[in-house]
Amino acid sequence: MTSNNDTLFARAQRSTPGGVNSPVRAFRSVGGTPRFITRAEGPYFWDADGKRYIDYIGSWGPAIVGHAHPEVIRAVQEAAARGLSFGAPTEGEIEMAEAICRLVPSVEQVRLVSSGTEAAMSALRLARGATRRDKVIKFEGCYHGHADSMLVKAGSGLLTFGNPTSAGVPEDFAKHTLVLDYNDPQQLEDVFAKMGDSIACVIVEPVAGNMNLLRATPEFLQAMRRLCSQHGALLIFDEVMSGFRVALGGAQSLYGITPDLTVLGKVIGGGLPVAAFGGRADIMKHLAPLGPVYQAGTLSGNPVAVAAGMTTLALIQEPGFYDRLAAQTRKLADGLTQQAKEAGVAFCADSVGGMFGLYFAAEVPQDYAQMMACDKARFNAFFHAMLDAGVYLAPSAFEAGFVSARHDDAVIAETIRAAAGAFGKVAG
Ligand SMILES: *Cc1c(COP(=O)(O)O)cnc(C)c1O
Repeated sequence: MTSNNDTLFARAQRSTPGGVNSPVRAFRSVGGTPRFITRAEGPYFWDADGKRYIDYIGSWGPAIVGHAHPEVIRAVQEAAARGLSFGAPTEGEIEMAEAICRLVPSVEQVRLVSSGTEAAMSALRLARGATRRDKVIKFEGCYHGHADSMLVKAGSGLLTFGNPTSAGVPEDFAKHTLVLDYNDPQQLEDVFAKMGDSIACVIVEPVAGNMNLLRATPEFLQAMRRLCSQHGALLIFDEVMSGFRVALGGAQSLYGITPDLTVLGKVIGGGLPVAAFGGRADIMKHLAPLGPVYQAGTLSGNPVAVAAGMTTLALIQEPGFYDRLAAQTRKLADGLTQQAKEAGVAFCADSVGGMFGLYFAAEVPQDYAQMMACDKARFNAFFHAMLDAGVYLAPSAFEAGFVSARHDDAVIAETIRAAAGAFGKVAG
């Protein structure tokens, strides 16, 4: 029986490379046919065959208040009726900048852009322009969007600069990026001792969510902060995923560490394209039109997108929002762990705020190598069993999952019941 999803996927592949507009949507990692989504509401979305799923990707993070929240939709409709885009400033952009500066105290000034990739790319350029240095440090397994200097993997030795991970990235660009191991403060120490004075910045996901969920150790982030300050390098926290997701003030509020620059996205757009980068005012003043670092955008601070973002930011500031979100996410993680145990499957789960990780391993991974050692085949089987049962997890063993404020006890309980069956299928 051919499903509408199959028909649409076949058709999509004729006009679009791989049939998708962002690679992970293609189900290449887990196999099978991607689901084409027709609508979403609260914790659910529906595919082209009318099948309902409990959604644990939430558009990869933005849908933190649940899909199609009535207040967000109303704000978007009202903004749209006033005009879609002006190419001239609006008061809404000031309100959004003020809200970000208030909620993330390390951000004294901020610039709005349209995607996380653009925000991270701009923050890197700003760091290089402000320090007049070229070299940047990133960590294996962290994702910072698809700008050239970030699509880089480690070179052959500790002090050799990186190699491109994508065709089309010149080696001459990649050689300015040094890729180190996440959660290895000693390695960072060694590199700074050798070449600290040529490093423009260190960029990191302070809670990593693009190699499954991986928590940074406090020692790792503290070492990074100290070394950057000692050597005049800037510390950039890429909180595109963790910002307004692990806590209202982002991962920096959980760890009590103040980065020089912060990159935001996902939740701040509430489902429309808003991202941002900001930080110390003395660094931000290097940006055009004040300074020599160029950056611009036709749709930056778009009034309709800002309306969705501002309404979402208002909703997440309601008292107790993050306590409830974290409790529901923890309930999910604990419930899944319990079902796996009963089925005799080596599995564990972790969560930080509204973000979770599922690991087919005996213990929660502490670094990239341990993460890569998780049982991918078993995850794929589990993913499909859950999908059949109406639960949509990220279609990759190496992505974090997301819970919304609309994942109530009944939704979590339904998920855990589905998991009991799914673990049974993948056991043995
Ligand atoms: C999603 C993500 C990005 C890229 O954002 P886009 O809006 O997809 O370009 C960058 N950094 C992190 C940490 C992300 O999770």
